[in-house]
Amino acid sequence: MTKICVPVFVKGGVDVEEAIARAEEALEGVEGMVELRCDTASVKGMLGAIDVARVPVIVTVRPTWEGGFSQKSDAERIGLWEAAMEAGAEYVDVELEAWEKSGAIREAIGDAAEKNGTRLIVSNHCFGGRPKDLAERVGRLRAVREARVLKMAWKAESLVDAIDALRMVAENRNVDGRPLVALAMGEEGLISRVLAKKFGAPFTFGVAERGKESAPGQPTVAELRERFRWEAQGERTGVCGVVGWPVGHSLSPDIHNAGFAAVGADAVYVPLAVRPGAEAFTGAVEALRGCGGMNLRGLSVTIPHKESAMAYAEKHGAEVDALSRHIGVVNTLVWRGERGGGLKALNSDLGGALDALVGAWGGTRESLRGKRVAVLGAGGAGRAIVAGLAAAGATVVVYNRTLEKGQALAEAFGGTEGKVVAAAWEKLGQSCCEAYINCTPVGMHPHVNETPMEPITSGPCAWGAGTVVFDTVYNPAMTKFLKLSRQAGATIVPGTEMFVRQAAVQFEEFTGKAAPVEAFRRVMGAVMKGR
Ligand code: NAP
Repeated sequence: MTKICVPVFVKGGVDVEEAIARAEEALEGVEGMVELRCDTASVKGMLGAIDVARVPVIVTVRPTWEGGFSQKSDAERIGLWEAAMEAGAEYVDVELEAWEKSGAIREAIGDAAEKNGTRLIVSNHCFGGRPKDLAERVGRLRAVREARVLKMAWKAESLVDAIDALRMVAENRNVDGRPLVALAMGEEGLISRVLAKKFGAPFTFGVAERGKESAPGQPTVAELRERFRWEAQGERTGVCGVVGWPVGHSLSPDIHNAGFAAVGADAVYVPLAVRPGAEAFTGAVEALRGCGGMNLRGLSVTIPHKESAMAYAEKHGAEVDALSRHIGVVNTLVWRGERGGGLKALNSDLGGALDALVGAWGGTRESLRGKRVAVLGAGGAGRAIVAGLAAAGATVVVYNRTLEKGQALAEAFGGTEGKVVAAAWEKLGQSCCEAYINCTPVGMHPHVNETPMEPITSGPCAWGAGTVVFDTVYNPAMTKFLKLSRQAGATIVPGTEMFVRQAAVQFEEFTGKAAPVEAFRRVMGAVMKGR
C-alpha cells in the first residue's frame, strides 16, 4: 500500500513535536509516515523526534551538494544514522553518490541497517532538470544490494517527465521486490506525486501545510486526500485532467473530483501543466495515451491549447459535432474505449453557456428562438456563445471593441439559424436586447472596479426582471457588472454558473453519468470563498 510521507525538518526554531503531531493528524486514517529531515539536527534532537513519532520514520541528513542543508562530515552523518538505526528508525535515506564514494558509509550502514530492522533507501536527486543518464542512474540505484527502496527525483522539464516517472514506478514494481519511488519535481511533475498510489509506488510526499515543502511541487496531504481522491485511487482508476498553462489554480479538479465521488465513479481528475505550443500539447497527450496503466478517459483543454486540441482531434479522426467544428476550437477530448466508440471532441463552453442562460429564463435551449441577445466581445468565449445562440435561432448583436473582429464573427455565424450582426462598442448604451452577455475580461480580478457597460435604466430599452445579464467572468463571481445590473432590476447569471454547466457537459462525456450539478455549485462556492 502506498504511504503518504510528510517531511518534518528537525532544526532550531521548529517545534518538532508539534510538527509531527500535525503530520500525524493530517495522516489520520491513511497509511503514512514522516521523513525527519535531520540535515542540521543534533543526535539528541533527532532521537527526540524518533521518540515522539507514532508513525514510521525515515531519517534523512541531506547534504548541500544533493539539494539539502547539511554541511556535516561523513563521520557526523554516520553518527546520526547509527543512532537512528539503534533507536529503531524504520528507514534511513542515503544518497547514491555518498554510498558509491564512501567505504565508511557502506560499512557503517550496510549490515547494521539489516540487523536493526531498518531499511535502507538509496536516493538520487537532480534539481537542475532531467538527467540525461536517467536509466543508468536507476541501474546504479538497483546495484546497491543493501537497498530496500530506491528513490529517483528530478526537476520536471515537462509533463512528459511526470508520466515517465509513473511509468518507471510501474516498471520497477516487480523487478526484484525492491520498489522505486520516482518523482518529477515542480508544477509540471505534479501527477508523479498525485498518481503515485495508482501506479503502486511505495510512498509519495505530502506536506502537512503549505510552506513546509522539502522539494518543489509537493502537494499538501489534504490536497492528496480531498482534492485528488487518494483513498479512492486504485490501479484501474480512470484518469481525466485539465491541460493548460498556467493550470495550477484551475477549479476543474475540485469540481470533477467531487462529482466522481458523488456518483461513485472510479476516476480521478488532475491538473496537467503543459507549456504553450502545439508540439508540447501533442507530445503531452501522446505520452498520456501511451503510458501503460494510465487509463486516460478524457481531457478538458484550456488556454492556450484549444486550437491544438482541435488539430489533434482532426488528425486522429475524432467525432466532432458540426457546431464545434464551425467554431474551430474544442475544449474537451474524450476516449470512449470502455464505453464503446473512439475519440470524441467537443466545445463544452457552448453548451455550458446556453444552459446557464436558459436556466435564468427557466426554459430549454429551444426557448432561445427569436430572442434578441447582445454579446460583448468577439474572442474565444464570444465565438462559442455566438455560434450556440445563432444555431438555437436567437438574434445576436455582437459588440466588440475592435469592430472588424465583431463583423468577422457575425459573418461566420450569421444565417445559420438566427441572425447575427455586429455593432460598434460605443453603441452599447443604445442596445435594446433581452439578454446581455459579457464575453470580455473586463471586471475580472484584479480589475474588479471595472464594468463593460452601465445598465440601461430609462427609455424604451430600460432593463427589468425580464432582462438577463450574464457575465462569463467568474473571478470574482459577483462582478461589478452583475451588481449594477441587479440593482437595475435585471436577472443575473454569474460566470460560475457557466463554468459549472460546461463542467457538467464534460463530466457527462467522461463518465456517461448525469453530473451532480448541485454538488458542483457547492464545491465551486466553497473554493472561491477560500481564495
Ligand atoms: P479572448 O479570446 O482574449 O477575447 C477577449 C475579448 O474581449 C476580445 O473580443 C477583446 O476585444 C475583448 N476585450 C478585451 N479587453 C477589453 C476591454 N478592456 N474593453 C473592451 N473589450 C475588451 O478571451 P476569451 O477566452 O474569450 O475570454 C473572455 C472572458 O470569458 C474571460 O473573462 C474568461 O474568464 C471568460 N470565460 C469564462 C468561461 C466560464 O466558464 N465562465 C469560459 C471561457 C471564458 P478585441 O477583439 O478588441 O481585442
